[in-house]
This record gives sequence, structure tokens and C-alpha cells, in this order.
Amino acid sequence: MSLNTTTRSGNEHVITTKTSQEMYERACRSLATGVSTGFRRRVTPVPMYFVRGDGPYYYDVDGQEFLDYGLSFGPLIVGNNHPTLTEAVNRQMKLAYTFGAQHQGEIDLAELMVKVLPGVERVIFANTGSEAVQSALRLARARTGRDMVVKFEGHYHGWHNNMLVSNHPTTEQLGRASPSCGGQPPEEYALTIALPWNDLSAVRRAFEEHPDRIAAIITEPILVNGGSCMPVDGYLKGLIDLCAEHGAVSIFDEVITGFRVALGGAREMFGLEPDLSTYAKAMAGGFSMAAVAGRGEMFDVLEDGRTGHFGTYNGNPISVAAAIATIKILSEPGTFKRMNAHGDAIRRRIEQAASECGQTLVTTGTGTAFTVHFGLTEAPRAWTDVMKTDEQAYDRFRAALLQRKIYLLPDGRWYLGATHTDRELEKVFPAIDQSMKDLA
Ligand code: PMP
Repeated sequence: MSLNTTTRSGNEHVITTKTSQEMYERACRSLATGVSTGFRRRVTPVPMYFVRGDGPYYYDVDGQEFLDYGLSFGPLIVGNNHPTLTEAVNRQMKLAYTFGAQHQGEIDLAELMVKVLPGVERVIFANTGSEAVQSALRLARARTGRDMVVKFEGHYHGWHNNMLVSNHPTTEQLGRASPSCGGQPPEEYALTIALPWNDLSAVRRAFEEHPDRIAAIITEPILVNGGSCMPVDGYLKGLIDLCAEHGAVSIFDEVITGFRVALGGAREMFGLEPDLSTYAKAMAGGFSMAAVAGRGEMFDVLEDGRTGHFGTYNGNPISVAAAIATIKILSEPGTFKRMNAHGDAIRRRIEQAASECGQTLVTTGTGTAFTVHFGLTEAPRAWTDVMKTDEQAYDRFRAALLQRKIYLLPDGRWYLGATHTDRELEKVFPAIDQSMKDLA
């Protein structure tokens, strides 16, 4: 595949992706697909190669500095090279990499999570969001003795066969659990029900159609993976109440929202306490770490041996040290207020620039994770609305911003972190204004 290595937008803003292009071509000869996760293949004009990160800045192999609003798909909430986080990890590195046994940090982190996450009494650790989701589902199934689980269209809960269904369904795939890629035998998602989101009647119907079969309902509390749709008033509480009424376990997948939309995640933001929540990404500021957290009794099935939880790297000291440091940094007073104000300011600027340039768009989500939707006049409420966005317009906007050294994720999503300051606003505002003009 041959791609332009130098792209132009006006005369003065030209970045080069020459070395990235060369490295990508070399990588493709030994590393299948050239990248390490499918999502990175979508990055245009070429998957870029970086050598260093500092705060909210990335430095690429062509010696260019980019202001990053992608945060490595979410984890880098305190940026790269944060002195407190680096120091905590270095300190632990000198003590031990890992034990495959117990250490003080596990207790400290568990206690910290119980303190900051509303309604959380107990936790277990894992390494990735996908794993945490699988562990939560297993707990729910063991507890209820039931087999089916409900998820929603547009939601992403990791790459395992039972959950990678109806992630971004096409029109033909709506209304049933649909696999997202090859190698997913129907037997492996036969127990997964995929429903439209923000629609309690669909959930009620599922409980009626499958009496005493549904072990759990899992939802992203804010649909960040499907256009950052917000839950309509009462929806999340309705889900929790329906689960309680029908003896199912309610699970918030907070892999993105956890430690991001508030220190206590969506639980704190919405004042709700589902039975279980899953965490990863922002939890450890860029290190591989995940957790399932919730009401104490949800973990009785582990304590009494009805089910098990496993993993060589679970609770490893380096990731635990990173998580404790990250949560402490985020706990500094004013951090979330500042991050939210920064994100809101960017959203307003994008909306204003669009209206001045005659572009139709809306932004949805929160201050620290939001999505830009070209072509929509109202905030989307579910995947079927998000499907109507003008992806090509966003691609052109993102390409224009890349020319101005603003690095973004490919799907309209922006992530904010604690190291984005007014200095970065001064860089991103004119870039937004000029990039919007480029679309004309
Ligand atoms: N759940 C949600 C809501 C996610 O956004 C993701 C990752 N994008 C996952 C689960 C899976 O996490 P991981 O990539 O760490 O396995």
C-alpha cells in the first residue's frame, strides 16, 4: 500500500510521516498487520511511530512534536513522564518486578479503591479491561447460576468472543447479537443478548422472554465507544433496578469512565451503585492494570470456592504502584474541575468554529472524553443515531489538525488529561479554527 508521506494544508503547516511510513512498511514484513491492535490500523495517513512522550506531547520518529488528545486510547490521564508516577514505578522496580505472591501494595490499592469508589466494598485485580469484563461476567454467572448476559449495541467490552458482538453493527446486523470479526463461532456468543441502548422497554422484554436466564446486564455508563452518547435521565438507575427486580447482576463497564469522568467514575458522576464495575485504562496511568469492584457479597462466590479468578500478572507490584500513584495524583483537589473545564472549552470552540464555517456538528460526552459528530444536529442517544454521522468529514478535520500537530484518535473521540493546561488551549484553539476553515 502506498500512502502520501507528506500532506499539505495551506502552505505553512506541513508534517512529514516519511520515517513512520518506512518503519510501517518494514514492520509489516514481520509483525502481522504492522500494528499491535486492530484499532491502530485505522490511523491515517499511516500508523505513526513515536519515540518519546512528555506530559500531553508525543515526539515522533521524524523529530516532530504533537499535542496529544488521544491519550493512548484513554490510559494517559496524567500524561507521559509524570514525575510522581515515574518515581513510584522506579521505586518499585528497584524493590522487585513481581513475586507471584502477596505484597503490601495490593492491600493499599484495594483500600484506596474502596475509599474512592462509591458503594465499592471489595475488589479483584486483572491486567486488561477485557479480562476484568470476563471476570465480572463469571462472578455474575456463578452467583446467579444463570447463563445469559445482556449487552448493548455500540458498546465495547473487550475482544473475547462472547462480548465482541454488536460492537459497531451495520444496519443489517441490528436487532441480534452479531459478531464483529471472523473466528467467532455462534456457539460462543449464543448466550449474549444485544439490545438497543437507552431503551428500558427492550430490557424489560428481554427479562420477560428469558425468565430466570439472565445473569447480568453489562453497560458502558456513558457510551464512549459508540459516539460518547449520554444515558437519558433515569436509564442507568432503571437498569440497576430491573436487575435487582429480576435477580440479575448489574455491571457498569467503567474501563473508560473509571477515574476519568470523576475520581469515583460514573458511580460518582451519576450517584449510582451497580453491583459490579470494571476498571482499567486511566486507573494506572498507562500501565497494564484492571480491576473488578463492587458490593462485598458479589465476591462471596470466590470466597466460598464456587468459582475462581486467575492470572499470573494479577496485582503485580509495578502496575499496582502505578495505580496507587495515578489515583493519588488524580485525588489532588481541583484536578477534575480543571480537566472538565479544559474539555468543555474545546467542545465549545469546535462548535463555534463549525457554526462560523457553516459546518453541521454536535459534540457529546463529558469534559474528559467526548466525541465530535459531523452531520448531526442533535446529540445521538444510541448507536443507530451515531451511525448517521459523517465520518469522512471528521477524517478530513482530523487530518487538518494533524497538519497542525494535534494528534487525535481516528473515531471522533477526544481524551483529556491532567497535564492539558491553558498553554495547550492556546495551541489547540487556532488549530481548530483553521482546520475547520480547511473543510470548506
Ligand atoms: N471495556 C471498555 C468500555 C473499553 O473501552 C475497553 C477498551 N477500549 C475494554 C473494555 C477492553 O479493555 P482492554 O483493551 O484493556 O482489554
